[in-house]
Amino acid sequence: MAVDVKQGAATDGQRDGSTADQWVFMAEDAPATNRDLLGGKGAGLAAMTQAGLPVPPAFTITTAACNAFQAAGGQFPAGLWDQTLAALKHIEQKSGRVLGDAANPLLVSVRSGARESMPGMMDTVLNLGLNDETVNGLARLTNNERFAWDAYRRFAQMFGRIVLNVEGLDKAFDEAKKSAGVQQDTELNAEQLRGITQQLKRTVEAYTGKPFPTDVKAQLELAIKAVFSSWMGKRAVDYRNQFKIPHDLGTAVNVVTMVFGNMGDDSGTGVAFTRDPSTGAREIYGEFLPNAQGEDVVAGIRTPIKISGMRDLWPTVYHQFEEIAGRLEQTYKDAQDLEFTVERGKLYMLQTRNAKRTGKAAVVIAVQMVAEGLITKDEALRRIQPTHVQQILVPQFDPDSRKRAGAPIGKGLAASPGAAVGKIVFDPDRSATMAAAGEPVILTRKETSPDDFHGMAPAVGILTSRGGSSSHAAVVARQMGKPCIAGAEEIDIDVEGRKLTANGTTLHEGDWISLDGTTGEVFAGRLATSEPDLEQDRELATLLGWADDVHKIDVRANADTPAEATRARMLGATGIGLCRTEHMFREEGRPPFVQEMILNAPGARRGEPDARRAYNAALDKLEEFQLGDFYGILEAMDGLPVIIRLIDPPLHEFLPKHERLLVEVTEMRVRGQSGAELEEKEKLLQAVEALHEQNPMLGMRGCRLGIMFPEIVQMQARAIIGAAVRLKKEGKHPIPEIMVPLVGTRQEMQIEYDTLKQAVDQVFAQSGLEVDYKIGTMIELPRACLVADQLAEKAEFFSFGTNDLTQTTYGYSRDDAEGKFLGHYVEEAILPFNPFETIDPEGVGGLMRIAVERGRAARSDLEVGICGEHGGDPASVAFCNEIGLDYVSCAPGRVPIARLAAGQAAMGFTPSDR
Ligand code: ADP
Ligand code: MG
Ligand code: MG
Repeated sequence: MAVDVKQGAATDGQRDGSTADQWVFMAEDAPATNRDLLGGKGAGLAAMTQAGLPVPPAFTITTAACNAFQAAGGQFPAGLWDQTLAALKHIEQKSGRVLGDAANPLLVSVRSGARESMPGMMDTVLNLGLNDETVNGLARLTNNERFAWDAYRRFAQMFGRIVLNVEGLDKAFDEAKKSAGVQQDTELNAEQLRGITQQLKRTVEAYTGKPFPTDVKAQLELAIKAVFSSWMGKRAVDYRNQFKIPHDLGTAVNVVTMVFGNMGDDSGTGVAFTRDPSTGAREIYGEFLPNAQGEDVVAGIRTPIKISGMRDLWPTVYHQFEEIAGRLEQTYKDAQDLEFTVERGKLYMLQTRNAKRTGKAAVVIAVQMVAEGLITKDEALRRIQPTHVQQILVPQFDPDSRKRAGAPIGKGLAASPGAAVGKIVFDPDRSATMAAAGEPVILTRKETSPDDFHGMAPAVGILTSRGGSSSHAAVVARQMGKPCIAGAEEIDIDVEGRKLTANGTTLHEGDWISLDGTTGEVFAGRLATSEPDLEQDRELATLLGWADDVHKIDVRANADTPAEATRARMLGATGIGLCRTEHMFREEGRPPFVQEMILNAPGARRGEPDARRAYNAALDKLEEFQLGDFYGILEAMDGLPVIIRLIDPPLHEFLPKHERLLVEVTEMRVRGQSGAELEEKEKLLQAVEALHEQNPMLGMRGCRLGIMFPEIVQMQARAIIGAAVRLKKEGKHPIPEIMVPLVGTRQEMQIEYDTLKQAVDQVFAQSGLEVDYKIGTMIELPRACLVADQLAEKAEFFSFGTNDLTQTTYGYSRDDAEGKFLGHYVEEAILPFNPFETIDPEGVGGLMRIAVERGRAARSDLEVGICGEHGGDPASVAFCNEIGLDYVSCAPGRVPIARLAAGQAAMGFTPSDR
């Protein structure tokens, strides 16, 4: 019968002389794999129909039609309406009913569906085709007057709200329920529903100033246009911006013969996942609501029963559903999210799509599907996104803190895992503003709707008192990887009064609250969180193992302490790419010695006889500390390389702030104080003033310090090599690599190399033992990239310091740029992205390519890597892989993400492919 549709198109083509576009496809002959054209929902309906599954007769108006509609300023393109009528005729024939026929009326749903599923973002109108005549026909036909009026009531409400944009209808229905003295819509009888429907229609008429449309074809046309228009509606646009979905995809419109879950106790509607979307467990997981229609489950109108309840109620239907679920998994080779309706004991499938899932579930499902032979390891790796891994690494509550917190104030469904701590906010607008001001907020609502999205996205967690684990709040939170507790019914949420009450505790807006999305427990106050234990996660370990199997670029970590190094190693780091030594100078008990060192350094108090002695004494003391530090970190990374960077920041950073000293000195003088204390302070102040620089970032720092004060870096080199020698004596295998920061010339590298080598040899001579080590440099200046061949004469390794390299290449100071203009630049597409987050492949990356090429030309076994935040950014990992670096080094917590990215990069799969 697709012929009808095509005839419609042909007629039109002849009329305006253009080529005939096919805007409409019947589900039975639509190109089921073309999600771009049919949208996800349309493609799913087509696939299920063509697989012989029970789907009500349906057709799809394409996304191309939507785009043509937008382009024409809200007009149907030529041929669309004729094709729609032809397709309608076709489903009328299949169902044996006719739209608008008073005796035998067909009802349809008009459903949106873009390529990317956007839960709740676009509106669906159910029961279209009802008016004062057809409602009677429906009542006679089904012998169920209550049902007919329930359907009409729903239609008036939905059509009014969605298509005619009438406000207050849902509230009007709630009030009507109240005045009828019932809690649930199912308790209303036919008479009451009739009255409410007429009232709703009058409200619509009063609001729009026009009669409620009774012409069913007009209803259909208006509904299709409303779906198209909703594509550019605010909430849809917000959602696409959030998830970086292009705005020019368009939405399809699906017109589907209605089946009725609200025909009594042998009917119902439900949603189910073929696997648990929170944990990934292989069991059907979902919810079901008897005697209900459509959105009732998702909207949290009544709290639904578990899908297992359906198994007890209707075993035959359940088993049929189970079988269909299995078949769809086989077809799509992925977990599915299914929507279905049971009409008087008969099952109908209304939607299938790849299920949204938590990161945990994504990994578990992928690994299990490999075990089941459904997909390959390669495919499993492709399916996991960096955000999935990141979600698994979400913090949990610290067990002690949890114990101290005592009993939770309430419990709901563990809808999305992880611990969230924030301030309660009841309103999405306030959530957005408070979050923008840097406050962690927990959006707390009775239930959420798509209109709340702008307040959900920036919240750290979401709490609702109604709805199940497929409610809007739960679905959206899982996708964003935010902890969520849904349907916490024992918590009374008073949105207007801005407070919540639970088991005797009342909390107000702005109070702290803690959610455990993994258990569903809600705590008053602020609990402490702790890092997750990756070792316990077998599936993630398996998956990352597959990534390691194919990887080319290694993953190291940036770690400054043995504890961080140990954690990095546990997370799979194969070395330390950056150990910053200056943090060690700031540890407790050390700053006085650092100050001594700086104040007595040659040049600072030249000529004073005791200065040299004080300088050396301070250095000796610091060497002792540093030896312990390096011993710890080398021991933690036994057998793996550890790159230790020599002191880098300008020395003034280790001294008190100038303003503070000035105030102190002035106060002492005003008080008339004198003597040794004042003298000390004044000397310090003088030293700080002497160290003052206009541009510390470009001043006396990095290797310039080591050249001006060779004793400092020699002290560090002795400590590094001394620690390694000690470990070797103990039978360990330390691999230290000494890194000189901010080198820009051959001479700098040469001088530093000689200075360090002298210290190293001194330790070897003293201990009578040698260890393997390397001396290399950080590459963070454009000049260093260009003269990389000269640097590689001495340097045995390079490590790109891409933070500084980005600053010096662009001439941006990061703090100023990010504070002032980078946001604007990215928004206005002056820059494609923030180059401090993702390596700029052209400029900064171009310099990196040059450095790699020239460096390796001079020294073929030159080891080259990158440290700095880019090392944990998947797109940057892919770039580093492409230019042939040996490793990336990132924060310990990002190591798993970098391992995944390294594996994916080796497979030629870059994040932009998604
Ligand atoms: P969403 O994109 O928000 O999931 P849908 O188009 O899937 O919107 O519609 C929401 C719900 O409405 C469906 O889950 C289903 O229960 C119900 N529904 C849609 N079309 C029909 C139909 N033809 N018959 C019965 N119920 C329907
Ligand atoms: Mg749906
Ligand atoms: Mg640097």
